[in-house]
Order: sequence, then C-alpha cells, then structure tokens
Amino acid sequence: MEQNQDRLKDIISHSKEYGFVFPSSEIYDGLAATYDYGQLGAELKNNIKTYWWKAMVQMHENIVGLDAAIFMHPTIWKASGHVDAFNDPLIDNKDSKKRYRADVLLEEHIEKIRQKIDKEIAKGVARFGDDFDQEQFRKTNPNVLRNQEKIDGIEIKMKGALENNDLDAVRDLIVELEIVCSVSGSKNWTDVKQFNLMFSTEMGSVAGDASTIYLRPETAQGIFVNFLNVQKSGRMKIPFGIAQIGKAFRNEIIARQFIFRMREFEQMEMQFFVRPGEEMKWYAYWKDLRIKWHKNLGLGDNLYRFHDHLKLAHYANAASDIEYNFPMGFKELEGIHSRTDFDLKQHELHSGKKLQFFDPEMNESYVPFVIETSVGLDRMFLAVLSSAYTNEILEDGSERVVLKIPAVLAPYKAAILPLIKKDGLPEKAREIMKDLQFDFNLQYDEKDSIGKRYRRQDAIGTPFSITIDHQTLEDNMVTVRDRDTMLQQRISVSEIGSMIEKKASWKTILSNL
Ligand code: ATP
Repeated sequence: MEQNQDRLKDIISHSKEYGFVFPSSEIYDGLAATYDYGQLGAELKNNIKTYWWKAMVQMHENIVGLDAAIFMHPTIWKASGHVDAFNDPLIDNKDSKKRYRADVLLEEHIEKIRQKIDKEIAKGVARFGDDFDQEQFRKTNPNVLRNQEKIDGIEIKMKGALENNDLDAVRDLIVELEIVCSVSGSKNWTDVKQFNLMFSTEMGSVAGDASTIYLRPETAQGIFVNFLNVQKSGRMKIPFGIAQIGKAFRNEIIARQFIFRMREFEQMEMQFFVRPGEEMKWYAYWKDLRIKWHKNLGLGDNLYRFHDHLKLAHYANAASDIEYNFPMGFKELEGIHSRTDFDLKQHELHSGKKLQFFDPEMNESYVPFVIETSVGLDRMFLAVLSSAYTNEILEDGSERVVLKIPAVLAPYKAAILPLIKKDGLPEKAREIMKDLQFDFNLQYDEKDSIGKRYRRQDAIGTPFSITIDHQTLEDNMVTVRDRDTMLQQRISVSEIGSMIEKKASWKTILSNL
C-alpha cells in the first residue's frame, strides 16, 4: 500500500467529492479538526455502528446497551481524575511556533528507529527467503541489537519521566535525542507544559448562578455512574458488559490528519464488569475478541498490530492499543484497558453511594473490576476508507477509482440501472427497486451511459450494479455486475435479494466471529 500523505490527500478529496466527509462550516472557511459526514458518510458510519453494536450487544447475552447524556454532573470529572490529570504534555518550537505533543515527538522518534530494524529484517528476508529465521536474526544481528537497545533505553526514560510527571526530564530527553521540528528544522524548544483536554461550558442562564460543566471527553463515565441502574433493572450477573456509542470531545493540542484526530468525535465503548482478581483473564479474552472483530472485516490481517502501553493511565493496570496501518503509518485505532475498580471506587467516594454487586455464588459484595474496549468510530471510518480506496489501471489502459468497502458496510448495497430512460425500462426498474428496498439501501440511477454509471458506483463502493434492459421485460432476468471483479452475470429478478443477502447480510459477517 502506498504509504504517504498523497494517499491521504486523495482519500480526503474523494471523500468530499462523493459526499462522505465535508470540512465543518466550510462556507465560513471551516473549523479546525471538525468534520461533517455527508449523505454517504452517514450511511457508512451507521453501518460501522451497527456492526459494532450487533457484535457486542446482540451477540452477547450478558452485554446490554446504554445511551447516557453528554452533560453530566461536574463532580464526575473530578472523581474520574479528568479535572486533575487529563492532560497532554505540550511543547512549542520557538522558531516555527508549531505546537507538538511531547510524548508524540518521542514516540515518532522511536518509530523511526523501529523502521530501521524493519528494513534490516526486510533485507534478511530478501536474501535468505524461506530459510530466514526472524527470531534468531533479531537476537543476533548487531544492527538490530543496537537499535533495539536504543529503543529500550528511550522507552525506560520516557516512561519514568511521564509517570513521575517530570516535565523537565521529558524536555531533556527531546533535547538529548536531538529531535528537530519538522517545519523549522531547529531544536529550539520551549519548556514542556501540561494542557487539560476537557472543554468546559456553563449550565444555567444566570451568570452568577452558573456552574461549570464539561463536555465528556470519553463516554465511559456515563456507563460507570449507571452501573447499578443497569445491573438492578436488567438483573445482570457478573460478568456482564454495558455498551455505548456516543460523542466525546477533547481539545486536542494537535489536530491534524483528517478524521483521525478531531476535537469532536464518536466512541464505541464497552465496559465489562468482572470479579476482582479475574481481570487479567478477561483482559486477554477481550484483546483476542476485539482483534478478531477487526480482522473479520477482511481489510487485511497484516494491517493490525497490538501496542502494549508503557505509560499506564491513572486508572489502568494493563492497557494495549490495536493499531492500524493508516496512510500515515501504524496508529491507535482501539484501546483495551484493564481499568481496575478505580472508577467505581472513586464514584463511591465522591457520591457517598455504594456501587457494589452482591455475588450470590461467592456470597459477598464487592466493587467489580472493569475491562474496557474503546474504539473510535471516526478512526474506524478512516481505516475502512483507506483500505478500500483503490486506483486501478484496467486492461484497456483506462483508470478507475473503486472503493472496495466490505459489502456489509457499503452505503448502497446495489444500484438499480435501467439501460435507457424509455421503453418501460424505468418502470420495470422501479418495480424491482420497490420490492428490494425493504431490506436494502439502493440507489436508482438512469442518467448517462451505463459505463459512466458503473464508474460512479465503483467510486462510492456499491457492491452490485443491476441493469434492466429490454430482455428483462421478456424473461425477467437482469445483468448483475460485481464491483470488485467487474464480472457480469445474468440472473433472475427473484434471485437478486438472496444474492445481495449472501454477500452483504449481518448474518454473513457476524457468523464468522
Ligand atoms: P491518542 O493516543 O491517539 O490520543 P487515546 O489513547 O487518548 O488516543 P483513548 O482515550 O484510549 O485514546 O480513546 C479511545 C479511542 O477513541 C481511541 O482508540 C481512538 O480510536 C478514539 N479517539 C480518541 N481521541 C480521538 C480523537 N481526538 N479523534 C478521533 N478519535 C479519537
């Protein structure tokens, strides 16, 4: 896969041209790091949500959903630690005035060294082919060993500095590693400062009466404060999970890279409540299940990797990211965290209410431990688009842009195309469409040549194009063109539904999980 900013640029302009994603407030020159989903984007986004929701809630009898309010009592954010500790360390380059996250500068530096190791390994593979023993190579090759040692050294220092909130040490490490600003090329850095990422606003219209409230920076807290409501009203027994999809807001220091890092975004989170002491078993279980869910989309197994956290958030005793190979390289797509009993205990402390479960098997009450899975919906959207976006040169030398979106997620499942706009073909086409429309989202298109219409459907990722011609009026057969292979076949109208169903139904995808 082409690994560069050009590819990202192509995806951004394609998304805009075909109605997937628009810059927010565009006629006012946009608003930084905020985007609107257009007519096709809204469909794709909804389908991703459905895939997640069905896999979580519908397929697990011990997981239920929730839709909590965005506004919450301000003490929640004090209890959760976000008021005091939801910070990013920021650093400015004095020459370019460009602002960076200090930890990200260090991580990118580490990634560059890691790429050197990968190159060395690639050379080994090229030289020795099937005989190449990567494990052995990593243990013995002097270049690999030297670079790995470098990485380990930096990671230890970085972890120590960040965990102790030693901002001077973070800056010293950036200086020591001679990290330069990508704009000015200079090493002229300011001190590192902490920056709180929560947006705040005021509730109540009378100024003196107003109280500061926060826009939630994660959806999880809505789940924690409703833990007992759901457990009691749903008669849930541990282990059980609560799933939620919703907006979250973070005043990100650097918000670039399209919908990868936004200030308003959507999360799909599930908190799984378990017995104390059993959390590591469930942590491993959810890591495994979540990577399976991703790979099941068929975007490519080699596009994912785990990254175990060095610096744990204030609430976690283990954490790992599922990273995806975006056009900008491997970046976090989902976080899986063992959050201990931190949140529930904090809410007990600050609210004065008990948040415990009486376990009939153990005959005792306890505050459950929590495993969280948290995936960014917008990042999922970008992952799907970036693997789907394909520029193909065809046999006749012409080019086509095709979005090879997994059929189940495609905005339209099929296009209904009368060959010409007369002779009763549009009427027949609409009749076919009316019948299928109860089950599938379809697009009707009668404008331009059939070739042009096929290209338009390719560009928006419609898996099937169904052409109605004069013959159809006689034998009730249509031509179906497959988006990916471009092969055409003639099938009867009565078979269309089951053909789409076979490739694009929820059952097809969920039964592989
Ligand atoms: P990052 O390190 O990239 O800032 P994070 O570790 O802060 O992410 P979490 O707090 O674990 O992220 O949030 C869970 C998920 O929410 C992330 O895996 C990501 O998919 C999504 N997410 C977080 N911040 C953003 C953002 N600014 N824009 C879009 N998605 C986001």
